[in-house]
Amino acid sequence: MLGISEIFYSLQGEGEFIGTPSIFVRLGGCNLKCTGFGNRYEGSNIIGCDSIYAANAKFSKEWIFFQNSQELISSIQSFSTLKSDIVITGGEPTLQFKNPILLQSIAYFLKEGHRVCVESNGSIKFIFDEVLKELYFTLSVKLSNSAEPFEKRINIQAIQNIIDNAKSVVFKFVLNAQMCEDGSAIREIKDLLSKLKLKNNRVYLMPQGVSVAELDKNIEKIYPLCLQEGFSLTDRIHIRIWGDKRGV
Ligand code: SF4
Repeated sequence: MLGISEIFYSLQGEGEFIGTPSIFVRLGGCNLKCTGFGNRYEGSNIIGCDSIYAANAKFSKEWIFFQNSQELISSIQSFSTLKSDIVITGGEPTLQFKNPILLQSIAYFLKEGHRVCVESNGSIKFIFDEVLKELYFTLSVKLSNSAEPFEKRINIQAIQNIIDNAKSVVFKFVLNAQMCEDGSAIREIKDLLSKLKLKNNRVYLMPQGVSVAELDKNIEKIYPLCLQEGFSLTDRIHIRIWGDKRGV
């Protein structure tokens, strides 16, 4: 059984493959809460990230539970017959990296010639099945603005495992204006990167926010840091096009 919060076809809104038509497979469940991102789900009292309905198991009644890989493959194919990217996201998808339904589905789409990407917080160490070695990872390692304890959000061995074994790894850090101004953003990022054996992994800085006004305010403070440190800036174009709507 594999719990999935939602599947949808859209444009990749962030990072390395921004603008690419992609089918998003959002798995249910996360090992973090990230209350620091301060989003509420449709008036509920639960506070977390903008994917709180996937991250928090309290919403599991809304998830679809797939019983085998053929069901999942057919469901994914029903969103587009194009050879678009498949993006495995969450929640934290690596929690399911032993699940045969997920592994068999990934193997199928790789064989069909799709690029398969994963968005992970990088805090879970898992065994690299052969099929996982073909994936493009974006590691959105959480910084202090997530409000998660350091020991929960930073796992150097887990990140190094992914760098050493995956086909491609980039970092994407979510920043707000305050941490850019007080210097903590760059301090935390450099401290993390200094503990890793990198392979020329690209680093993206991304504005925190679920409205255009928030994105703009944070980008103003982020872009000078990109120029100063040689990091790349990424926007969140899905917010600009569709706002904070689910399923796009
Ligand atoms: S790690 Fe990602 S999905 Fe999990 S709670 Fe934090 S922001 Fe949300």
